[in-house]
Amino acid sequence: MGQGNPEMGGAERCTFCAEPPVIRLSEPDRHLCAAHLICEIEERAARTIRERELVRPHDRIAVAFSGGKDSTALLLILSRLLLSWDDVSLVAITVDEGIAGYRDDTIRAAEEVTKKLGIEHICVSFTDLVGDDLDTLLVGRETNACSVCGILRRKALTVAAHDAGATKIATGHNLDDEAQSVLMNTLRGDLPRLVRTSDADSSDCFIPRIKPLADVAEKEIAAYLFVQDLFPFLPECPYTRYALRREVRSMLSALEQQHPGTMRNLIKSKRAIEKQVDRSTISEPLRRCRQCGDPCSGELCQVCSLRKSLGK
Ligand code: SF4
Ligand code: ZN
Repeated sequence: MGQGNPEMGGAERCTFCAEPPVIRLSEPDRHLCAAHLICEIEERAARTIRERELVRPHDRIAVAFSGGKDSTALLLILSRLLLSWDDVSLVAITVDEGIAGYRDDTIRAAEEVTKKLGIEHICVSFTDLVGDDLDTLLVGRETNACSVCGILRRKALTVAAHDAGATKIATGHNLDDEAQSVLMNTLRGDLPRLVRTSDADSSDCFIPRIKPLADVAEKEIAAYLFVQDLFPFLPECPYTRYALRREVRSMLSALEQQHPGTMRNLIKSKRAIEKQVDRSTISEPLRRCRQCGDPCSGELCQVCSLRKSLGK
């Protein structure tokens, strides 16, 4: 790796020690060996948590744990940080949407990781929630896969976290996801979502959501797991091909490669807009769903509207 690897810019040593580098990072330009990469990622997540006050003593954190790379890194980092926190506990929650040829492998991976880390693991399914799996719900409406999946997953996670006594829900959203969301919300003209707060977000559910990896790039997470032999090689969801996010993701990755810092700049712009906008003037006032009583902006919450359109 360190023998003049072009990706390493010819560097043969880590910027901080004599070990061979495994990754090159910019701003500032530096090459990190495996040990320094692990330190850097864990310290950055800890700083995000500290600066945004995402975790407090006595919190019980429900980690949305799909078994994929982002949530595996999140669970690993939180389990290590846990040792220095006062009376904080973790529970991992995996949502089984019911996607043939995909979800079974990730659930198996999730079970292995939680067992290895000794973390309580709960699995909930769309079938428990609405009586059918995602594949069945999507027959004839496959192009809407991600919005149906997202609405039900959010609900399944909230219910499971509530039942587990959680005070926070942690998700593995990384810097790339955040930048993609900024661009997607802009492309959709969705200002209320664009300016939704980046910190502990409790705007549309009772349990605040936190994103400790929001300042860590996808490639850094992949490398962090890879050097610890924990990278989960898993199949891709078959519905990804319908997702707008997929196109936005490849566009942004290309831009980032050509113009390093693009993703961080997008997020910076979002934060600047966030500060300028008075949310109360662009968001509908919070009401209660007339069907289930959950907080929502219209007559029905997203889950009840979806159930109605699915005839559930
Ligand atoms: Fe759900 Fe879409 Fe993600 Fe597949 S790609 S798991 S359908 S959100
Ligand atoms: Zn409802």
